Amino acid sequence: MPAGILRSLFERSLDNPEPVLVSSRIIINTTKPIVKDLLCAECEELFNKGGEAWISQIIARRGSFPLARAVQSCPRVVDDANLVVYSCKGNPEIEIEKLTYFALSMFWRSSAVDWSSIAPVPRIVLGEREEPVRQFLRRDAPLPSDIVLIVTLWTHEPSNLQVVLPAESRQVASFNAFTMSIPGIQFVLFTGADVPADVRAQCVCSSDDQAIAVANAIDTVLTGKMQANFQAAHRTPKIAAKYRDYLRGRLG
Ligand SMILES: [Zn+2]
Repeated sequence: MPAGILRSLFERSLDNPEPVLVSSRIIINTTKPIVKDLLCAECEELFNKGGEAWISQIIARRGSFPLARAVQSCPRVVDDANLVVYSCKGNPEIEIEKLTYFALSMFWRSSAVDWSSIAPVPRIVLGEREEPVRQFLRRDAPLPSDIVLIVTLWTHEPSNLQVVLPAESRQVASFNAFTMSIPGIQFVLFTGADVPADVRAQCVCSSDDQAIAVANAIDTVLTGKMQANFQAAHRTPKIAAKYRDYLRGRLG
């Protein structure tokens, strides 16, 4: 996890300021970025300037969510009770290119490296898209044309600032889907030639509208998953005591 995102997860006002890593297997405090000597200094800088530095500024924090504020000032193209889609094209506060670059850099790192020796995190398989995505991240090639990226924001005031590391959510014969969340923002990456047209029409990078959605249910769903993992995973008595009240009181 990039250091800028991790820093946003510390909550100095609490007795337990450190973020907690919850997987279906284990619960630990995380005070250091999950890093590995994957990138040379030049690529580290490319990734930082390409997306991470900007993303760190616009994600949700307690009491502020700059990206949601900017998106909600854009014209609505879908307006349902639980889902509103905004046309973000041309809004200078919303750097679609950096949003896309950041998301692909996270998915690529999850695919290119086995992180299991240093953290209990899942690995995804981008397969034959891994190399074209790497070339895009290196600025050696354009964005692969069969990539579809859907960006959905939580409600204006997310109840629970959490990161969900890249995971595979669906694999069918004709296309794949991978998900990832950082505070306030969920990314779903679809790859393959047969991604349905209605999904493709909501792609943040290739749709005419440069669409970004805001959905009511997302943080509730993610919080539910985290609670389920918390109940199921191994935890030391110390960790269990430290977070039980928090989870019951704030999220339960
Ligand atoms: Zn490099």
